[in-house]
Amino acid sequence: MMFASTRGQCPPVPLETALLTGLAPDGGLYLPESLPVLDFGSLPDTDFPELAHRVLEPWLAGFMTSEQVGDLVTDAFTFPVPVVSLSEDLGILELFHGQTMSFKDFGGRTLGRLLGHLLADRGEDVTIVVATSGDTGSAVADGCSGIPGVRVVLLYPAGQVSPTQERQLIVRRDGVTALRVNGTFDDCQRLVKGAFGDSRLSGLGLTTANSINMGRLLPQMLYYLHAARQSEAPVTFCVPSGNLGNLTAGVLAARTGMPVRGFIAAHNRNAFFPEWLQDASRAFAPSVQTPSNAMDVGAPSNFERLQALLGRDGLTRLVTGVSVSDEDTLSSLGAVAAKYGYIPDPHTAVGLEAWRRVAPAGPVVVLSTAHPAKFPETVEPVIGHPLDVPPQLAALSGAPTSVTDIPADTDALADVMLSAR
Ligand SMILES: *Cc1c(COP(=O)(O)O)cnc(C)c1O
Repeated sequence: MMFASTRGQCPPVPLETALLTGLAPDGGLYLPESLPVLDFGSLPDTDFPELAHRVLEPWLAGFMTSEQVGDLVTDAFTFPVPVVSLSEDLGILELFHGQTMSFKDFGGRTLGRLLGHLLADRGEDVTIVVATSGDTGSAVADGCSGIPGVRVVLLYPAGQVSPTQERQLIVRRDGVTALRVNGTFDDCQRLVKGAFGDSRLSGLGLTTANSINMGRLLPQMLYYLHAARQSEAPVTFCVPSGNLGNLTAGVLAARTGMPVRGFIAAHNRNAFFPEWLQDASRAFAPSVQTPSNAMDVGAPSNFERLQALLGRDGLTRLVTGVSVSDEDTLSSLGAVAAKYGYIPDPHTAVGLEAWRRVAPAGPVVVLSTAHPAKFPETVEPVIGHPLDVPPQLAALSGAPTSVTDIPADTDALADVMLSAR
């Protein structure tokens, strides 16, 4: 399968190139030249790895054999993906049972294995440099640790991630260097961009792993299909959204043949996309901080891809956008806990509030993007008692850590990267 840029100003490339470069040379995002057609009715309805194998095979044709795809999915998807039913028409698709407890584990683990395969063929190494303010860094570090040929350098802003998130970032992992930057998330992103232009680092085979990478997007289709197969009727998916990667994956699944009633794009106060669905003249805005910090995005990186897939008319027909205030997020969290005895994390609470407001007919599946125990400082005051700590997080408290403090300075980053080789 070949991948073409959304801007159409450069030739289509094979998956290898899309994986290693992320962005196309004309500044666009990669999408498949033509979409594979899915025989939805023949997919297994409970066996997730088997479904993953069947769905990914045509996407990876020419890159991996069917047997290699089978090995990849059994190695990557070692955790359950349950749909928990809260009422007759409301299911919660729990995407947080992986090692770092957010849906980003699907992308992180798949990307690591795709890169590992690619590098084993070529006998090369790569260094993934990733700036993170939340869940991406730990998922990519965890998903890529120990994969031969793949090194990860992750940068995060000192004092601006939660204590649990920080422990997840700095726990010592093979092949991973964690850097705590004395600066903001924007500084971290600036340093990453600088590293790509730094000739001293050109020998390291730098690549990135942000949410526009196809290697992260492809596996995110799988859980939509998995949930849709378990429903008698077409589902409305409600997706807590920031960079819109998750929503894009759902739309991709729908375009290849998954029956769907619609999507709800559930945003926090960073409301660009819901506003744009109402009014095409809306522009990107600076991000604001909210209790659902992984969705604090003012300029969603996958917006261009969504537009290329469906166009404005298609998007306004298929997607309802909702923006939820911080107050309503917290009261939704408390109300759901009280009514259903189910404790959502703050991101999922945005989704549940959006679902309540839209109240679509027919079955609804709300994607639960993270485990509540990742955000105890937000969740516990609302529910009024401590959360149980799942084993993945409990294991962190005694584990050895490793982190290097650096100033927000390109030379400092280059020095550490060269000495950590
Ligand atoms: C990354 C993230 C999101 C937003 O997903 P996008 O694909 O960026 O829209 C939502 N919830 C959690 C917990 C996340 O980590």
